[in-house]
Amino acid sequence: MIYDWNSIGHTKQLSYLEQELRTGTPHHAYLFVGPEKIGKFSIAKTFASIVQCQNNYCHTCSTCAQIKKNSHLDTILIADDGSTIKVAAMRDVIDRLSRTSQSNYKVILIENVDRFTPEAANALLKTLEEPTGKTIFLFTATYLRTILPTITSRMRLVHFQKPTSEELEAGLRQRFPEVDEDTLIRVIGLSLGMSGRAIELLEDQDHLLEIKDLYEEINFLYTSATTAKRMTQIQELAKDPQRLRNFLDLFTTYLHQQLHGTSGDPAAQAHVITLLEATHRVNHLLERNVNPRLLLEELMITI
Ligand SMILES: [Zn+2]
Repeated sequence: MIYDWNSIGHTKQLSYLEQELRTGTPHHAYLFVGPEKIGKFSIAKTFASIVQCQNNYCHTCSTCAQIKKNSHLDTILIADDGSTIKVAAMRDVIDRLSRTSQSNYKVILIENVDRFTPEAANALLKTLEEPTGKTIFLFTATYLRTILPTITSRMRLVHFQKPTSEELEAGLRQRFPEVDEDTLIRVIGLSLGMSGRAIELLEDQDHLLEIKDLYEEINFLYTSATTAKRMTQIQELAKDPQRLRNFLDLFTTYLHQQLHGTSGDPAAQAHVITLLEATHRVNHLLERNVNPRLLLEELMITI
């Protein structure tokens, strides 16, 4: 790799993008599609810095610094704020596109373009159909199926996957050398393969402490608690949806670890598998608004 993409995994995709950049005339529109929180938007931002910097993505010039701070005039970002992307945001883009450019390109970065409202998508389509001057569109999306085909057909698609667990572990260890092995493994389990989520967790000390607490609680419930004790312990958990979700993710990781530990003991292994299935069922039924306390009680009896 020529450039520092500051990303975990995605070797094939980054090689392709570097190849596109090496031509000196990259395509005018790319769409990065794949699971959320794996670094697609950050890669798009790096791509923007590479094409805008006069000095081969030097990290030190004012252009590089401004793009990093999202304040570069000719690099326009629409980050996903959690709601749908509105037509007003697109009007702002169109307005800024019409102004004179001081830079190599006008670059438009849009996060989660699949969350556009129909009006915003139509406004976007007009811009894509009639790009003015040297313009590059870099969009990310989780799902291709919700984007207008008239938009996707004008873009080069780059498909991203979650990094492998080896890539994730190596990448996180390099970024967070101070974090101990146990914590790292738990965070990887909780992140469900999403590197962005793992990084958020590792950067948040309070959250890390919560994970340690939860892990100890799980270990207690699994190894030494009586059924009566388990029943009282889960009452609080059932009232806190976020903590409950973390608990179930971490419990799943914990059970997988137990599964490795029980190889050679078929009966113990069968028990862990039963618990994994029960946990999966709890997750499934929680999404259907079944009472969390009842579900947890059933799970605790299965232990
Ligand atoms: Zn630079």
